[in-house]
Amino acid sequence: MGDVTDDPVDDPVEALCVRLHRGLRGEGPLAAADAAALGCALLALGHRGPAVREAVERRPADVPPAEAADLAARLLAEAGFEPGFDLVPERLETLRRALEPVLRDLPGAGGPGARLVVQDAWYPPSAGVVLADGWLHGGGLPVCAGGDPVTAVAAVAAHVQESLMERDRRALPLCPDHGLGLHALRHSDAAVWWCTADGGHPAAAIGRLPRTGRNRDDRPGRRA
Ligand SMILES: [Zn+2]
Repeated sequence: MGDVTDDPVDDPVEALCVRLHRGLRGEGPLAAADAAALGCALLALGHRGPAVREAVERRPADVPPAEAADLAARLLAEAGFEPGFDLVPERLETLRRALEPVLRDLPGAGGPGARLVVQDAWYPPSAGVVLADGWLHGGGLPVCAGGDPVTAVAAVAAHVQESLMERDRRALPLCPDHGLGLHALRHSDAAVWWCTADGGHPAAAIGRLPRTGRNRDDRPGRRA
């Protein structure tokens, strides 16, 4: 677990990673010299990957812009750089939008009172869903979960589901056909509730679970 700091400039490697990341997004200059500097810094830390070696061996002036972008991307991967939500705010937005269909299928989360929060103290950076009653379980949603809407819906559904199961100590939601606990996952480019019965089948798209699936065994004291 790394120290919590809001100031990446404290760490020269982090600062170079942030500069290259911003350059790749077109939010600042993408300098081959920064790639060379990062390569040297990573080498000093014991990294020996192909991108690190290339960045160290090539003269920045000899690296054309298109290759500099490719080299920067590979360097960031070798460095294990994980941008926080401050650097990729659209991913946080994608995760926030994913919450709505998930809450439709998991009414136990408390509806609109549940909210997605950034867990600032975490490394790598992550988000979490606080249920309407204030419950927040131990897991987190990594920044990459917000990379696209389908991944986001599946990830947020699994996260909220885990939170509810931890709180309520029972499996939900259930397959309307088989009565088994469902798994949130990505299947055929859609976020679905997956049932493992009968060789596996999608019970419903996440956000469109039939009410029988949501409500069975979900209302103590009422008709099951
Ligand atoms: Zn089923």
